[in-house]
Amino acid sequence: MVIIKKSSKDILEISKRIEESFMEVSFKPGRTVFIKPNLSGRQPITEGENTTTYFLDALILVLNKMNCEKIIIGHSSLLGTKDRSYPFEKIINDSGFSKYYKNKKIDLLNLDKAKKGKAEIGKFIFETPAKLKEVDSYINLAKLKTHMETTISFSMKNQMGLLSETNRVNMHRNNLEELIAKLGSIVTPTINIVEGIVGMEGNGPHHGVDKEVDLFFVGKNMVEVDSVISYLIDLNPNEVTHLAEAQALGVGKIPNIDGLKKYDKFKFEFNKAVKFKKIGNKIFVWPTTSCSRCITALNEAGKEFRRPNKIFKLFISGFFGKEKHIIIGKGLPLKMPDNSKIICIGSCSGDLARKKSADCLKKCPPTVSEVKEYLTKQL
Ligand code: SF4
Repeated sequence: MVIIKKSSKDILEISKRIEESFMEVSFKPGRTVFIKPNLSGRQPITEGENTTTYFLDALILVLNKMNCEKIIIGHSSLLGTKDRSYPFEKIINDSGFSKYYKNKKIDLLNLDKAKKGKAEIGKFIFETPAKLKEVDSYINLAKLKTHMETTISFSMKNQMGLLSETNRVNMHRNNLEELIAKLGSIVTPTINIVEGIVGMEGNGPHHGVDKEVDLFFVGKNMVEVDSVISYLIDLNPNEVTHLAEAQALGVGKIPNIDGLKKYDKFKFEFNKAVKFKKIGNKIFVWPTTSCSRCITALNEAGKEFRRPNKIFKLFISGFFGKEKHIIIGKGLPLKMPDNSKIICIGSCSGDLARKKSADCLKKCPPTVSEVKEYLTKQL
């Protein structure tokens, strides 16, 4: 059962709605609760990108009321580069979560340092927080976002943040959506909340646009929750690869579309074709299967081109001459016009570069300065 609640940003109102939804799905948190929020934003962080403190404050109010004695908020560092890192303490400060250090009932747990359990599926070994086995309940607190690689980033995708850095990088290098589904088969949240009071539409999870949806969703099964939201943003859940894979693994069942017609869809810009970021009308950036480390290096290097001495070069490159396609990740099966210039960044795009006789900055991960220097030559 998926509960859909409408709410403003008011903490008391949100807490009332959360409480109602917990009653409707018969969720009792017990004495100790583990919460996995979504803290994926790099400065400047937007409300659509990260779990907000106002939503978490409201959830904590409810948990207190339900006699919860210990709340563990667990997160790992974000993927970065040698010259741009996002350790746990930084993301906790940047997201405003450091205020929870003052609350004795709350532990902010750095998952990079926390004890891990291991689960092997096929050739992949998932390293998950051992803490999950010690608590009475696990709340998977996700955001409502589109995702350029995985189409959606709701409850199933949010679980990736539980894993070790090596796991996360290897998931991107291998079959990301299949591995998200497999992770869902070994880690089962007690309850999932997908918060879209402000969500992110378009090229999420980082390059989209914040969108006030004023809704959040609560349910016990990830496949069901994510399927309902997919339908509501006008997307067939059967066509979301990780949901279909998760269903095949028995994680949950995608509801029948006819049964979902009782819900009112809401407007959420979602364009299946847009998997790139466009700069001017000649430069296209394709993150394809890239992990956040190459994305970070490229994003940060790109900021350099906003400087007055570089902006003219970017303008000329973006509006004149050949199309340029900047590729991070494997880049397959992208089809570029024959006369375009292909610029590959990161070792993952090495094969594509070889096939297309293109240049490649073969580093894993490249640093921001290396990408900056490389792009200055290539654009
Ligand atoms: S080359 Fe880039 S995208 Fe590929 S694994 Fe390394 S850092 Fe990630």
